[in-house]
Amino acid sequence: MALRSFWLEEVLTEDPDVAPPLEGEHKADVCIVGGGYTGLWTAIRLKEREPSLDVVIVERDICGGGASGRNGGYALSWWAKYLSLVKVCGEEEALRLCRASAEAVDEISRFSAENGIDAHYRRNGWLWAATCALHKGAWNPTLEALERRQIRPFRELTQDEAQAMSGSSKIVGGVFEAGAATIQPARLARGLRRVAIERGVRVYENTPMVRLRRSRPPIVQTRKGAVKAECVVLAMNAWSAQFREIFPAIIVISADMIMTEPMPERLAEIGWSNGVPIMDSRMLLQAYRTTLDGRVGFGKGGVNGVKAFGGRIGARFDGQTPLAADLERGLKEIYPTLSEARIVSGWNGPVDRSKSGLPMFGGLGGRRDILYAVGFSGNGVGPCVLAGRILASLVLGAKDEWSGAGLVRPPERSFPPEPIRYIGASLVRAAAAAKDRAEHRGRTPGAITRLLAGFAPSGVAPSGVAPAGVAPTKRKKPHALADSKGSK
Ligand SMILES: Cc1cc2nc3c(=O)[nH]c(=O)nc-3n(C[C@H](O)[C@H](O)[C@H](O)COP(=O)(O)OP(=O)(O)OC[C@H]3O[C@@H](n4cnc5c(N)ncnc54)[C@H](O)[C@@H]3O)c2cc1C
Repeated sequence: MALRSFWLEEVLTEDPDVAPPLEGEHKADVCIVGGGYTGLWTAIRLKEREPSLDVVIVERDICGGGASGRNGGYALSWWAKYLSLVKVCGEEEALRLCRASAEAVDEISRFSAENGIDAHYRRNGWLWAATCALHKGAWNPTLEALERRQIRPFRELTQDEAQAMSGSSKIVGGVFEAGAATIQPARLARGLRRVAIERGVRVYENTPMVRLRRSRPPIVQTRKGAVKAECVVLAMNAWSAQFREIFPAIIVISADMIMTEPMPERLAEIGWSNGVPIMDSRMLLQAYRTTLDGRVGFGKGGVNGVKAFGGRIGARFDGQTPLAADLERGLKEIYPTLSEARIVSGWNGPVDRSKSGLPMFGGLGGRRDILYAVGFSGNGVGPCVLAGRILASLVLGAKDEWSGAGLVRPPERSFPPEPIRYIGASLVRAAAAAKDRAEHRGRTPGAITRLLAGFAPSGVAPSGVAPAGVAPTKRKKPHALADSKGSK
């Protein structure tokens, strides 16, 4: 297996333990496909709520081998996505989910402490920054909408304050949300795996599902065996694009990261020892953070990365990032003071971008016994905690605030078929890059560039400039799923 990420390499030297591949015919109450945060949190919640439940996880690689062990480690709430949430599920539910997502960030800390997971959790907040004058105020529509409800998760900073907080003279403004945290993502993924196993979840690594048989009950077919389960949970992130119902709902695109050598003294000199992670307001979003040992991790997301034709995730998503030079240039543009920094690692991973930038949960093809969770759009560290609660409630047929959450809905039908999708995504990426370039030169981009860039899926804030005050839409009815445990 190619290098997966700096984070996983670091953890696996301490934790070489691998769960065995599945062999033979098995039965289970619940079979979860995918051992990332979504699958692991779901398994843990199910065992908490019904300890006697027989829960199996089958994982193609190792748990955390997907995005959960490769991400930037920003644990963010959904407050920045408030307007997108309002569009999907109305104001009251958006507020409830934002609050729950902020609690989820704290819960990672609490759960880790209670279960001996050292995920390098640091609750230092995050800075939503502008790197050019035209990006100042990118957050205004969101802050204004929240202000009308007298909710103030963000504090506006002056240019001086933003520069002092980030240690970069290239940052010209920003807002700060104190509730965010950073983690070492692979440590969390591997820790959740350990806890799941300790609670009796049967975990099979190096076990790809090769076919989902939609029989009743459904059967997860693997290379050397199968699991017949009362309920199957597809916690497969971008890999779920292979299902015809999910394909129109997401585009699969890589996010890419590089890591520097440790340089804690240099960070202290430039004034960036506070652990505050930063995301800027570009369409080709850049994110930069520090680690406990004084490295800088620098990433790019949005529609910047490698695209998966037909949703097929090949080897280009599983190794060194092809964008390393571009990332290093990006880092050194923002931090000319770190121009000597040596890059020691670079990798990427697939992201399941939905048009709204929000995930969706429900039953595949209306089935109550085959569930999906997809569309985290590069913001899954915190939200996957909620995904675990939502999926556990759906599996158990509970009627509660999780099974009835506004994000339980049929897959969005947002993206066209191939090859239009691939060509379109390339055009949108070019337009987004042109828009960012023009704005950094102090120019408003042309109408065609703006139009094309407007097709990009939502990033930190909704795509296009969200009007201040989006009218609340009627709350959608929860997807009709299991109404009793017995219906699985
Ligand atoms: C480079 C990068 C940076 C990111 N940065 C951030 C960040 O800073 N903050 C943030 O909140 N989010 C970030 N994200 C997104 C975040 O990592 C994801 O949203 C989150 O990890 C999703 O968890 P998951 O369990 O749904 O998916 P995954 O962790 O990808 O788990 C899905 C699992 O399914 C397995 N699988 C796939 N197909 C099969 C099959 N056929 N059979 C069995 N198993 C299968 C995969 O191997 C994988 O392990 C980033 C993502 C990437 C790639």
